[in-house]
Amino acid sequence: MKNTISINPATGVEIETYPRIAVAEAKEELIMVKKAFDSWKKTTFEERSALMHKFADILEQDKEKLAQLATAEMGKTIGQSRKEVEKCILVSRYYADHAQDLLKNEIVKTEASKSYVTFQPMGAVLAVMPWNFPFYQVIRFAAPAIMAGNVGVLKHASNVQGCAFAIEEAFVKAGFPEKVFVNLNIDSENVKDIIEDKAIVAVTLTGSEPAGRSVAAIAGQNLKKTVLELGGSDAYIILDDADLEAATELATFGRLQNNGQTCIAAKRFVVLESIYDAFLELYTTKMEAAKMGAPTDEETYYGPLARVNLRDELHKQVEKSMAQGARLVTGGTIPEGKGAYYPATILAEVTPGMEAFDNELFGPVASVIKATDEDHAIELANNSAFGLGSGVITSNKERGEKIALQLEAGSSFVNKLVVSDPRLPFGGIKNSGFGRELSDYGIREFVNIKSIWIE
Ligand code: NAP
Repeated sequence: MKNTISINPATGVEIETYPRIAVAEAKEELIMVKKAFDSWKKTTFEERSALMHKFADILEQDKEKLAQLATAEMGKTIGQSRKEVEKCILVSRYYADHAQDLLKNEIVKTEASKSYVTFQPMGAVLAVMPWNFPFYQVIRFAAPAIMAGNVGVLKHASNVQGCAFAIEEAFVKAGFPEKVFVNLNIDSENVKDIIEDKAIVAVTLTGSEPAGRSVAAIAGQNLKKTVLELGGSDAYIILDDADLEAATELATFGRLQNNGQTCIAAKRFVVLESIYDAFLELYTTKMEAAKMGAPTDEETYYGPLARVNLRDELHKQVEKSMAQGARLVTGGTIPEGKGAYYPATILAEVTPGMEAFDNELFGPVASVIKATDEDHAIELANNSAFGLGSGVITSNKERGEKIALQLEAGSSFVNKLVVSDPRLPFGGIKNSGFGRELSDYGIREFVNIKSIWIE
């Protein structure tokens, strides 16, 4: 059993080794998790809310320490790491304040003397989570699940175990009963044994398509409910009436935020022919001006990828796309020196069938695609196996809205990059997964939606 090692992707220096736990040990933990659920489910919303607010307070107090940890473990720029912790605080407080209302009984008029729908906790939810938002992805599942009366079991990505244990510690510091939230540092090969355990009633996975397929298949075999938040290749349509300055600014941040490693990042830019050359010229200037550097430096626009192997895989995808006919406009070379750095890269004249069109490029590489007209742009945007986010950039909001409604994705934003907001559901269609997180839809994924009838 190999231990997990956190390696700083900016320097290549080892930060810390975390011992893996074996299946037998994990199963011992699950016995205690089940016991924790049996009493946690009986707590009131007021009790849960007080603890969840305390949890948010702990995140607030430890914000700088947590932000530095995320930056060290996965290379996010320090300013963005601080914002990530702030978002965790926001979501924790949102569910602390609203869970009771979101889960209140719904009276349904029938022939019964009384009939209603009630929402009851289910048990322990296993969360298999990615490294790209090492705090936020976890809180996005944990805050609603725990407020609904469930308990949470985390299997986090191997390269961010420091963040995983920091979250567990924050739950303990906030005063949550033991094992209401646990981090199990298990090998992904052992996820099957955990899903099969009777203590686990449901599984949520955020990560790549192959991981999603594998975990969903096991959960399916065991008849356990699943929510999958998988990859994306989000298309943004740039219409001919768009303000090009604003559009290229948005496209630059959209492709470089989180060092290009955001599921809902703008990845394919579908640009109308009449403005294609002007867009590309301005976009290239902006992407070249964005400063790549140490993620701890406040001036850095984007830092390294999370691991050297991920950077090397990304580079292969760029080379493959070029071999298939994409034109390299800028970037595309692995820099000398230590760290998992990759420069802001633009591939132009990308067309269906190319790697950069068909698959997710999880790094600072933008695909620019030419569309002959609006209908062609919509067709190209929808010509994808994924359907997570999408967008339209235009000076005509009505025109934008009409197109947004035709895009095959879980979210479509006009003149704004897709963001997750606790008040709105978040998730995808097609190979981007199923189920929803956040809002009332998210908290109702892991509850028993139970009908009560009094004759
Ligand atoms: P990943 O390689 O799929 O890993 C995600 C998690 O799954 C990790 O904990 C990983 O553990 C585990 N895992 C991998 N293969 C597994 C398997 N066969 N069985 C059980 N567990 C397995 O993804 P990643 O590289 O961390 O994250 C990047 C991907 O996540 C991108 O595709 C991105 O678009 C997607 N993502 C989606 C969303 C969304 O909301 N839709 C949000 C963020 C990221 P190990 O680390 O131990 O391998």
